[in-house]
Amino acid sequence: MSEILVLVEHADGDVKKVTLELLTLARSLGEPSAVWAGPGYTDAAKAKLAEYGAGKIYVAESEEIADYVVAPKAELLAKLVSEASPAAVLVAATAEGKEIAGRLAIKTDSGVITDAVGLGEGFVADQSIFGGGVNVRSRVTKGTPIVAVRPNSTAPVAEPGAGAEEKVEIALSDAARGAKVVERVKQERGARPELTEAAIVVSGGRGVGSGENFSIIEKLADSLGAAVGASRAATDAGWYPHQFQVGQTGKTVSPQLYVAAGISGAIQHRAGMQTSKTIVVINKDSEAPIFEIADFGVVGDLFQVVPQLTEEIEKR
Ligand code: FAD
Repeated sequence: MSEILVLVEHADGDVKKVTLELLTLARSLGEPSAVWAGPGYTDAAKAKLAEYGAGKIYVAESEEIADYVVAPKAELLAKLVSEASPAAVLVAATAEGKEIAGRLAIKTDSGVITDAVGLGEGFVADQSIFGGGVNVRSRVTKGTPIVAVRPNSTAPVAEPGAGAEEKVEIALSDAARGAKVVERVKQERGARPELTEAAIVVSGGRGVGSGENFSIIEKLADSLGAAVGASRAATDAGWYPHQFQVGQTGKTVSPQLYVAAGISGAIQHRAGMQTSKTIVVINKDSEAPIFEIADFGVVGDLFQVVPQLTEEIEKR
């Protein structure tokens, strides 16, 4: 079976859910090998990667990988591509993953597909392009297919692999040392899941009216175990922090369930959420364009609908 490299996303020694999704997807197309880049590799991480089917785990633990921005990871993957000749490389379509994918494509003279929401035989990807305005099927025709897959595109399913470890040493180029991480600040988001990884996202827009009112969005999110998102109108107004903005110039999410309250559905907002599996809309204007992509819609005042919904969910 052909080897497929999967770049591991990890934080505090934990493997992120998106990596388990990528391993599951890779298993349907070949033999996944996980690539761990940076310090913090643990036995628990190894066990998790093997549990989800990694036949091999390449481990490059150099501190330098964490010290510099994304370039070392692209160099590591390029080295593995030239040495192992994998059939494809999968990364998560996060801000970091997409930058790594682009750099890797240049280094290996390969084609790259970003924002894939599905991947089938021959590495044909379902891809969301032009700010989410168009969905296409694409295939890399040059070099090693490099595909950045959106979180939540595949349900992670465990199926054990051998998990054979292989240590990798990497000598960084001067170019990779061009930009250095000087400080890391942990984002406070309480017990809520990370926005791009969450299975459920509840977002509020201008209709929410103020920063204080976002507490009703947060309450609904907490009743569902969801992450909170916001439209740009809400983040620009200072009602909710910018890191929670969903859309073309914010985060791209693709959860199982996306709830949009008081959001009109501008193309730039849709670009970040329209591949969500089920979309629920709460808006008092029945003509709001967001209803065009809604699976379920409530025409009503969010200040009535959202608290009622929260109460009903909390009863269950
Ligand atoms: P509005 O369009 O003002 O809609 C508010 C909605 O709330 C209306 O539909 C209204 O009917 C409803 N409403 C009001 N009161 C209530 C109530 N009580 N109950 C129920 N419904 C109510 N936007 C993003 O979101 N993300 C991006 O990343 C982004 N990037 C952009 C990039 C560029 C280059 C540009 C030009 C724009 C970008 N925008 C982005 C902005 C985008 O064009 C819209 O302006 C923005 O999405 C509007 O946010 P909104 O839907 O919250 O506000």
